[in-house]
Amino acid sequence: MAKLSVRDLSLAGKRVFIRVDFNVPLTNGGQEITSDKRIRASLPTIQYCLEQGAGVVLASHLGRPKGKPNAEMSLAPIAVRLAELLKRPVTMAPDCVGASVEKLLPGPGEVLLLENLRFHAEEEANDAGFSKQLAALCDLYVNDAFGSAHRAHASTEGMVAFCTQAAAGLLMDKELEYLGKATTNPDRPCIAIIGGAKVSDKIEVIVNLLKVCDRVLIGGAMAYTFLRALGQPTGKSLVEEDKIQLAKDLMAEAGPKLMLPTDHAVSEKFEANAPFQVVNTIPDGTMALDIGPATLAAYVAEVNAAKTIIWNGPMGVFEMPPFDVGTMSLARAVAASSAISIVGGGDSEKAIKTAGLSDQISHVSTGGGASLEFLSGIELPGVAALTDK
Ligand code: AMP
Repeated sequence: MAKLSVRDLSLAGKRVFIRVDFNVPLTNGGQEITSDKRIRASLPTIQYCLEQGAGVVLASHLGRPKGKPNAEMSLAPIAVRLAELLKRPVTMAPDCVGASVEKLLPGPGEVLLLENLRFHAEEEANDAGFSKQLAALCDLYVNDAFGSAHRAHASTEGMVAFCTQAAAGLLMDKELEYLGKATTNPDRPCIAIIGGAKVSDKIEVIVNLLKVCDRVLIGGAMAYTFLRALGQPTGKSLVEEDKIQLAKDLMAEAGPKLMLPTDHAVSEKFEANAPFQVVNTIPDGTMALDIGPATLAAYVAEVNAAKTIIWNGPMGVFEMPPFDVGTMSLARAVAASSAISIVGGGDSEKAIKTAGLSDQISHVSTGGGASLEFLSGIELPGVAALTDK
């Protein structure tokens, strides 16, 4: 079901609560922001609301203060940076609920940043009283924090019950548009590339994507649990012994849709620049640390033929050359493809960024955990709560 977008709201003269993701990296005892990427990412939604004549109340969590105020996790430095970026004053609230906040509520064109939501344990407990207090600060609710949408917290889910309308912000809208289309009605052929350390982390993703995709390409350490399930030798490679039966069941159900590496870069040592060889059968005493060139060529051919590509997880130990070759080469192929390309957060995003290819990807998801849950077919509580269009 499509959700209301901030563009569907009548914002003039209203006070809008925007749940943003200002969980930025801080240093120097919480005084200095080391990357303002997440603040910048929220600007289009904030600016849109201000241009439409709304007063804006912004709220976010930051770090894990465990339900208590903690000066090192205050959003105060963010108010300063945000004011610079917006080129207008941003009032920093001393708290996120209560009388001290209510007297600072913004008029049209004004911005109030609430203090860290997680200074109150009620936020993560999704407490109804706290949700009501948050909702009392606004007329309308907008969620632009996709990365927190898989959590049913007061600011992402609970407070929506007390708001008249709840809409997706522009960032959230883009996530829902790309991830939604790719998992329900993708342009075909649609392929998924799934890599990373463990099958167990991505079982639901593989099961769900097997339903919608024409091919699912497996790489990374998780491939070796599948190879073991086929009875192939895996040497010292990472294998989840307790997931071998599951891998067998997945392969039986998937048939030829599921593609596995056929050659591997193996080494005796888990070390950068360790000597390696390319093999079809993994010798005893070695571990497979990357897909081999034949696998890469087969996967690139699938990428070149695809109209939709969903990618989550590296093909090998991409942090450690020369075992980054499979991941980086695939990143270049995905970037060069004219298909709709969607890269999940986390390590595949890091690989794309390291290669300087982010702007050649149709959509790089901002939420690691949230995008994995979305790709698993789970309805995110923060999305489900939004008003249907
Ligand atoms: P994930 O967080 O599940 O996406 O897994 C990413 C991690 O898996 C990265 O740190 C990779 O170095 C690691 N990884 C990928 N392939 C292998 C492999 N063949 N052997 C060991 N670790 C791997």
